[in-house]
Amino acid sequence: MVFVNEKTYQRYVEENREEEFHREFERALERVKEDLGKEYPLLIGDKEIKVNEKFEVRSPFDRSILVGTFQKAGVNEIREAIGVAKKAFEEWQYVDWHERVELSYKTAELMRRQKFELAAIITYENGKNRFESVAEVDEAIDYFTYYAYLLEENRGYVKPMESRIYKNEIAYSVMRPYGVWAIISPFNFPLAITTTMTLGAVITGNTAVVKPSSDTPLSAFKLVEIMRRAGFPNEVVNYVTAPGEVFGKEIVENLDVAGFAFTGSRDVGHKLLKDFINKEPRPVVLELGGKNATIITAKADLNKAVEGTFRGAFGFGGQKCSATSRVFVEDKIYDKFVTMFVEKVKSTVIGDPRDRKTFLGPIINRQAVEKYRKYIEEVKKANGKILIGGNVIDDKKGYFVEPTVVVDLPYDNWLWYTELFVPIVLVGKVKSLEEAVKLANSVDYGLTAGIFSEDKTEIEYFFDHIQAGVTYANRVVGSTTGAMPGVQPFGGWKHSGWTGRNAGGPYYLLSFLREQARTEYV
Ligand code: NAD
Repeated sequence: MVFVNEKTYQRYVEENREEEFHREFERALERVKEDLGKEYPLLIGDKEIKVNEKFEVRSPFDRSILVGTFQKAGVNEIREAIGVAKKAFEEWQYVDWHERVELSYKTAELMRRQKFELAAIITYENGKNRFESVAEVDEAIDYFTYYAYLLEENRGYVKPMESRIYKNEIAYSVMRPYGVWAIISPFNFPLAITTTMTLGAVITGNTAVVKPSSDTPLSAFKLVEIMRRAGFPNEVVNYVTAPGEVFGKEIVENLDVAGFAFTGSRDVGHKLLKDFINKEPRPVVLELGGKNATIITAKADLNKAVEGTFRGAFGFGGQKCSATSRVFVEDKIYDKFVTMFVEKVKSTVIGDPRDRKTFLGPIINRQAVEKYRKYIEEVKKANGKILIGGNVIDDKKGYFVEPTVVVDLPYDNWLWYTELFVPIVLVGKVKSLEEAVKLANSVDYGLTAGIFSEDKTEIEYFFDHIQAGVTYANRVVGSTTGAMPGVQPFGGWKHSGWTGRNAGGPYYLLSFLREQARTEYV
């Protein structure tokens, strides 16, 4: 098999079928209304469980739309799910890897058939516009095909060792699964990121208990449902909705949990990691926050820089872990860039993400709006200047805020070092590329980074010196954003990650496996 990315929108455009893309999405928006407003159970083995305590999820662009009612699982249900997954591991670990590969391809195919419906659910659930939602489903499909492809390419990670010490001895390296993995996912990529971690665990022979973000549990429910429909045994992929702290506490304490994969904020991830391995050394996959920088040198093509930075900073309202959060601009072109950038931001179409023209939808919830307000206050207090934006548009019907460009904020202000995760970008002046790289590296995070320069030597300097796991030069579609599986392995350095093996990259699956050396006398 050869791996090929899904890239739906590009395909429609290349085939002159762009209108069809829009029609498909709009039809799906109608069709998924059937899914909205329902009550969704926990999925534990063969059981669909409802508990007394529930929580409602409402759409961030219109609070009158009920996405669904979900179960607030307690310790008992979480324990039950772990128990079921532990039992399932006894057999699942021995299932031939070819079979797991087939199931993964089959899930990809089922997802393809429901692509626009899944995208529409994401739009309702977290407010992504249609291009971003479809791209997210593409990413999930890509994980199913790419990880299957990886397992095939590596022949199930069974590797004969070529050298021999004794004549009658043969030796192998075999990568083996650990057991039950807890999977904890964030709101911003509720389908794709839940997929990468869940599939990473189960395609390698582990079993999983999936706990999505309480802001976006429906996409994960659909994921588990589709995987099960494709043939992954019910006991292998379990679905639990619960408050993060309750779930976190149980997986730390419960030694039947062999490992956990977490994508979310740094502080939650670090605390969980420390508690988890303190209890017993166990494997952990962490994908955490970022404070991503874009550097624009005097040798940049400013049209590219403006477009790329705009998309990087404000795509999905700055709520991508890869969002451009800091922009360092060389003094010679600073004024020109800032003027052009602000002009571009003025043209942002903000509104209902179901509308075709909308670029910027809502932010996720009330806490995000409160954070936005707090950061804007801080900018004012610290004598930073807001060139455009800075206002909450609506926090009643939905959660809409203006994309905001800040300049003149002193470099020692804490906003330069803190992940904001709302559409606010800080722009600063630098004297040289070297100074820009130094500032870019001066944070704890090291997730993504970008440069705009038409000079090859500058680009090389940037790649060689920037401390980040995912780097781009002159990327107009997003200066620091838009990684896809099998193309841009995605993961962070420093406080942005943990394993050093990026999601969607050639080494990702190894994080869910441990090596066994097998030597046999023949
Ligand atoms: P979050 O940390 O608030 O929540 C992430 C998940 O952790 C949710 O499912 C939440 O319910 C759960 N959780 C919360 N407290 C917990 C606890 N004590 N124990 C166990 N689980 C707990 O993050 P979020 O707001 O959903 O997502 C945004 C964050 O995720 C940002 O920091 C962003 O940069 C990061 N992120 C990183 C990547 C990456 O690949 N590096 C990708 C997407 C998002």
